Amino acid sequence: MEYKFSKSSEENMVMVLPELVEVPRKALSFGVLDLGIIKDSFRTEEIQRDNIKKGVSKTMDTLHLPQNDGYSHAIDIFWYHNGVDAFTLEIIAKTDKDRQLIKDKWNQTAALMYEAAISLNFNLGWGGFWKGNWDKPHYYKRRSRAK
Ligand SMILES: [Zn+2]
Repeated sequence: MEYKFSKSSEENMVMVLPELVEVPRKALSFGVLDLGIIKDSFRTEEIQRDNIKKGVSKTMDTLHLPQNDGYSHAIDIFWYHNGVDAFTLEIIAKTDKDRQLIKDKWNQTAALMYEAAISLNFNLGWGGFWKGNWDKPHYYKRRSRAK
């Protein structure tokens, strides 16, 4: 399949580090999974404070805030399955099979993102590797080479 980012996904990538934006573009170009970009990948301090209040973010120490170069160094990505987005599926999931599919799709997204990052020689990090893997949509530029 040939996939294209929606207009809103394109808008949600504005002010994200251009070399980071290349990674989901490449991942999408593989034609394996349809992907979207979550709103507010670039955040002002005000937006982030609001996110913490709403419980969708945990810290002000986030790469979604403008870094020294003025760009966000993090981006939040989700997938579609048969045209339904990940968050809708998470809400309507009923069976273990549904939940397994959702888990598989997040992991498949990560595999595509890493494949893209390797081909672009980009030092990618993923929130799905964090303790409790609570931030599966979250990808970022690593500050240094992983050992
Ligand atoms: Zn994030």
